[in-house]
Amino acid sequence: MDYLGKYKSAVAARSTSAEVLRCSQDGGIVTSMFLYALEEGIIDGAIVAGQGEKPWQPKPIVATTPEEILSSRGTRYNVCPNMSVLKESVRKYGLDKVGIVGTPCQIQALRKAQLYPVGLRDVCDKIALAMGIFCMENFSYQSMTQIVQDHCNVDLHSLKKTDIGKGKYWAYTNRGAVSQIPLKLTHKYEQPGCHVCLDYVANLADISTGSVGSPDGWSTVFIRNNNGENIWNKAVAAGIFETKPIESVKPGLELVTKLATEKITKNQKELEHRATFGVNKGLRNPYI
Ligand SMILES: Cc1cc2nc3c(=O)[nH]c(=O)nc-3n(C[C@H](O)[C@H](O)[C@H](O)COP(=O)(O)OP(=O)(O)OC[C@H]3O[C@@H](n4cnc5c(N)ncnc54)[C@H](O)[C@@H]3O)c2cc1C
Ligand code: SF4
Repeated sequence: MDYLGKYKSAVAARSTSAEVLRCSQDGGIVTSMFLYALEEGIIDGAIVAGQGEKPWQPKPIVATTPEEILSSRGTRYNVCPNMSVLKESVRKYGLDKVGIVGTPCQIQALRKAQLYPVGLRDVCDKIALAMGIFCMENFSYQSMTQIVQDHCNVDLHSLKKTDIGKGKYWAYTNRGAVSQIPLKLTHKYEQPGCHVCLDYVANLADISTGSVGSPDGWSTVFIRNNNGENIWNKAVAAGIFETKPIESVKPGLELVTKLATEKITKNQKELEHRATFGVNKGLRNPYI
């Protein structure tokens, strides 16, 4: 099993922009890349997670200005169906070169749409840059609210950042307080659909990134295909990112591989379990 997917190179990296780093989740790779690509005309807009109606509820938006991209920084640990505005990005916003960020399942949906463009004629050929983010699991809005308010005892209005790392769910407030709870308390809130997911590091993206493997404030980045490599090399040459060989940072790819293996092995077992779920019948397996 290929736990990390195909890639041309892997590095530890972070944005060289202090403004981007101020509110980004990790090394600001996604935001800096979209800002650079927009300025260079590589994309003419990007589908990102904007602000929804409720606090900490993301909403997919088609960002066509640097301000919109900047204001969508940071991870919201609840579902944001970014693919839902793909058609709109081309048909309503008139984009010819679309950037999109997504979790591994969203990048899978994107590639499936490109291969089988049912209802998406003249849309999928407009994808210019697919940025994938690592993902162990996700939560519904209601679950995220319960984790933050009931378990971490933090009001959503005073929440500055949430993070999952080092076996814990972290909630940081605007006034500097930090709450953390062990991940074993959050398991029951996970989306059941995530338990059959076999991709941790967005194997099908042009470039994928996450925090695991690199020190705080830095990101682990996989440059996966020719398109990703072309754009990444230009951005690095333009001074958008600071990079280090992944072999020179701790814990490096060893931890990424360990977590990817754990996720995929656990979820493969769940698929096997679902195959014999009923009496003489099982639940559908989407992979066969
Ligand atoms: C549900 C979820 C689970 C994750 N699990 C892991 C993990 O197990 N290990 C790991 O290393 N990294 C994980 N990540 C990725 C990590 O939290 C960062 O998103 C990633 O490192 C990018 O950081 P950055 O500083 O480059 O991004 P930024 O520059 O801060 O940009 C983040 C981008 O992600 C978009 N975004 C925010 N929330 C969502 C969402 N819910 N759905 C889709 N897009 C969104 C934003 O609009 C923005 O464009 C997870 C992310 C999500 C959304
Ligand atoms: S665990 Fe898989 S299915 Fe769930 S949000 Fe992450 S990528 Fe999607």
